[in-house]
Amino acid sequence: MTLSKQYEAVIGLEVHAQLATNSKLFCSDATTFGAPPNTQISPITMGHPGSLPKTNKKAVEFAIRMGLACNSTIVKENYFARKNYFYPDLPKGYQISQHTTPICAGGKVPIQVESSKRFVQLNRIHLEEDAGKSIHDIDPSHTLIDLNRAGTPLIEIVTEPDLNSAEEAFAYVTEIRKLVQWLGICDGNMEEGSLRCDANVSVRLKGEKKLGTRVEVKNLNSIRNVKKAIEFEIARLVEILESGGTIIQQTRSFDASNDTTFAIRDKEEANDYRYFPDPDLAPFVLSDAYINEIKLGLPVLPAAVEEKLITQYQLSKYDAAQICESLNTVKYFEAAAKHTTNYKSVANWMLGPIKSYLNDAGLNYRELALQPNTLADLIQLIEAGQLNFSVASSKILPQLIDGSKTDVLAVAKELNVLQVNDVDALETWVDAAIASMPDKVIEYQKGKKGLLGVFVGAVKKMSQGQADPNKVSELLIKKLNK
Ligand code: ADP
Ligand code: MG
Repeated sequence: MTLSKQYEAVIGLEVHAQLATNSKLFCSDATTFGAPPNTQISPITMGHPGSLPKTNKKAVEFAIRMGLACNSTIVKENYFARKNYFYPDLPKGYQISQHTTPICAGGKVPIQVESSKRFVQLNRIHLEEDAGKSIHDIDPSHTLIDLNRAGTPLIEIVTEPDLNSAEEAFAYVTEIRKLVQWLGICDGNMEEGSLRCDANVSVRLKGEKKLGTRVEVKNLNSIRNVKKAIEFEIARLVEILESGGTIIQQTRSFDASNDTTFAIRDKEEANDYRYFPDPDLAPFVLSDAYINEIKLGLPVLPAAVEEKLITQYQLSKYDAAQICESLNTVKYFEAAAKHTTNYKSVANWMLGPIKSYLNDAGLNYRELALQPNTLADLIQLIEAGQLNFSVASSKILPQLIDGSKTDVLAVAKELNVLQVNDVDALETWVDAAIASMPDKVIEYQKGKKGLLGVFVGAVKKMSQGQADPNKVSELLIKKLNK
């Protein structure tokens, strides 16, 4: 989008990521998505008098993993605070969150837009519990409440007002999604609401130091919508200023049916949530040893893996970035690379035919039944000239993909698609082809080199497609040039 030259956009994002723990942040209720409504709610989730919350250690660990991956400072002395407000899907009347001690302070996340790379500065990452869900679209006259989600652990990842375009915001949320999946702390599923984004947007004249008045677009549930909502807001805010209007601080919502936003409420002054430390939860202190243990358990991060794919496996920058799309993809690549040195082919197969199969089947690399060593066998057969790529991808791959067959050579034989690359057999066909077109031979020798294809075609026909075309060309050139 082209922004009027005088203005610049400033964006800060708040991303909520549901942590992939089996139970809730303060009790043992399950967090299974899609369970029948109101079946995962104990008195603790409901905040009944006398019920006692207890912190889920796994959730704390997951938050620390994210902080370490983002280079945040881990805050050692923590407490949970009650954020008080009324909402029908908030059964307790308060949300347990962190207030003055977010578990991770600061940090940075790498983004790339076109060819320029930079870091987006984080303000904090804090732990909090999710609310329930108000459902407006089942009953025409009533709002229904499902409290299963109440108490599900979240981390909220808050940036500084450090982004300047919808494209940067798109790249940032894409990176966050990749990172939480990579770390195994959140499934990143935006359709199911495991990852949601609020976008704070303001505009100001270029060169102006003071931030403009912001609007906040709530609950964006896809990365594309994050981008569209920001594009729309930037244009809308600039238009208000251009026409001499005043921007008021507002909370807005995105309408995906026409890619616009609409106001939900004006936010003239800060809400007073009456935060206070939750008296039922003891403050918790994190030891260096504990933080270190988590650090040692972290996987190698995407940026470092990308570098390794380029230096150790000679992949192009583009392929390396594609393979680094997820940790599962990287693991598969590295497993296959143990069985062949044709790394470029492994990447081509993985990013081409196999990926389109996975996309169609809605699967990922962890779920792929085709074993990495079988893929390596397939690549070796092509390299040896016994198979050509198009036959391998259109005929052989479909037979191997579900993992029921693993002997590539046997499959190729069964389908009768093995290429003949035995020189004696090839020579017989090549000689026959040359003998059948004496006038073409003369033309070729006079310089009409394009006729090579005619000879190759003749051999192809005689061999019923089984002659390795590369070897055939080599032999033909040798013989025709004699
Ligand atoms: P709140 O708690 O009301 O949402 P915060 O101060 O925590 O407010 O800020 C939330 C997000 O809004 C942060 O990502 C921050 O960077 C961003 N933000 C704050 N002021 C502005 C502004 N003027 N323009 C753009 N983003 C802003
Ligand atoms: Mg906010």
